[in-house]
Amino acid sequence: MPALQPVRGTHDLLPDEKRRHRFVEETARAIAERYGYAEISTPIFEFTEVFRRTLGDTSDIVTKEMYTFEDKGGDSITLRPEYTAAVARAFLSNGLAQHLPLKVFCAGPMFRYERPQKGRLRQFHQVDVEILGVAEPVADVEIIALGAHVLDALGLKDKVKLELNTLGDSESRNAYRSVLIGYLQNHKSRLSPDSLVRLERNPLRIFDSKDAGDQDVVAGAPLLRDSLNGASKRYFEQLLRGLEAAGVSATVNPGLVRGLDYYCHTAFEFVTDALGAQGAVLAGGRYDGLIEQLGGPPTPGTGWAAGIERLSMLIAEPPAPARPIAVLAVGDGAEPKAVQVAQQLRKHGFIVEMPMTGNLKKRMRQANKARARAVVILGEDELARGAATVRDMETGEQTEVRLDGIADRLAPYRQERT
Ligand code: ATP
Ligand code: MG
Repeated sequence: MPALQPVRGTHDLLPDEKRRHRFVEETARAIAERYGYAEISTPIFEFTEVFRRTLGDTSDIVTKEMYTFEDKGGDSITLRPEYTAAVARAFLSNGLAQHLPLKVFCAGPMFRYERPQKGRLRQFHQVDVEILGVAEPVADVEIIALGAHVLDALGLKDKVKLELNTLGDSESRNAYRSVLIGYLQNHKSRLSPDSLVRLERNPLRIFDSKDAGDQDVVAGAPLLRDSLNGASKRYFEQLLRGLEAAGVSATVNPGLVRGLDYYCHTAFEFVTDALGAQGAVLAGGRYDGLIEQLGGPPTPGTGWAAGIERLSMLIAEPPAPARPIAVLAVGDGAEPKAVQVAQQLRKHGFIVEMPMTGNLKKRMRQANKARARAVVILGEDELARGAATVRDMETGEQTEVRLDGIADRLAPYRQERT
């Protein structure tokens, strides 16, 4: 074991990177709130069945990517690779079928055993939104508009574009499956071994393959849209009209077929060409069959998930954190007073740094490094007079202030946390 290294495909979020992550997550959370989504969290691990039943035995996630282990009680447990199945499970466990429609926002770590590369990790983070209980296309319109809104708020309007497709209802997909199998049978020799298995079990999955040969074959395949029945066409038209009304522009990509078993009708991805092969930043669709696959009542659903790491690589530097006030004790005798003043200011809502070691010069350096807006210097002489020196770090100006009422004197230097 290479000790002292993080496990391959995982990494530490040090302050600068964590700040970018937080900015992405908090922006998404704030905007989801504006659309009326309530935040929930589910456990990081679930019974393996939750994912196996919903994602299907032929999905890449289930066949290759899950972190599955037996716990000490002999249960098969899986670290969650995605949020939707976990939200559906939570919906059923908590008897929420009485409370439809339900609109939720979630954020947290996901785990997939993948080959690590830029934008592809084994522990990564997602923000996620789901609407349960609405079968109408207006729900898809809302989640897509919400996704576009989050990306705009992150300053990514010009870096991403929305690709959209419809998978139709199950009748349409069944009709298409026969057409597609007919085509693929004639091109079997060019398919990867994985896709030969998919051909037997779930040919639509071949669209999701990252193998170049498979991609060539599907590029020439008949299109799903030519197998859509009337109801599915109407659904898609309503979706397009709704997106137009919401001011969201989309490109229809007939080859966009999300491979999870539970998807129907709407499938979409916001993609960028700024991240090499890892182009999808926010992706989702409609999953009307999912809750039933978990053993619940028929319940329509639609949602998306976005990768925080990928978004955080795309955004500009987030707003700088607010500048603190530094409180410096000069000499051991002044230290208890410095602690007291620092606490008092924090209780007044100031952000306060207290350099803890070294002489005055060294402590001033620490205050500078912390980008202090002002420094309160507590020397024993001033303390004897019930006073302290306040130094404006911008102008260098120093003034003596009385300790009672110091919070008021520092008010001009107060900065709000961003
Ligand atoms: P990809 O085609 O890149 O493998 P996916 O279809 O597996 O993506 P989803 O399951 O739709 O991805 O997850 C939603 C989002 O989560 C993706 O658009 C991406 O931003 C992010 N994501 C997925 N897998 C990873 C990963 N291994 N590392 C980092 N981010 C990821
Ligand atoms: Mg993947």
